[in-house]
Amino acid sequence: MVAFTAKQIGIGGISLSEEWKTRRERIAELIKDNALSPSEIAKIMEMRVKDVLEDLKHIASSQKYGKLMVMPARCKKCGYQFRPEIKIPKKCPKCHSTWIEEPKFKILTKF
Ligand SMILES: [Zn+2]
Repeated sequence: MVAFTAKQIGIGGISLSEEWKTRRERIAELIKDNALSPSEIAKIMEMRVKDVLEDLKHIASSQKYGKLMVMPARCKKCGYQFRPEIKIPKKCPKCHSTWIEEPKFKILTKF
């Protein structure tokens, strides 16, 4: 189950429909205090994982979305923890397993 945050509607102004938001804004909204893997985001957004990673990099480098947190990828076989990066590792450097748990991303809005 994915918890969607409430739509932000301008009071007294023109209400902003979800359609008017950029894709990156919608991704940011999606992972606000709710960690998701790139594949999960891709599925919800109907995008390619490659493009999700691209957008996440952009979100990470921009101040306006909040602080992007990365839960590093992990090898499901030996437990090796990868560096916190915006990419999906293919292979474990320790045991060479390809059974990798994707990193998860979320945006922290509360400090
Ligand atoms: Zn491993």
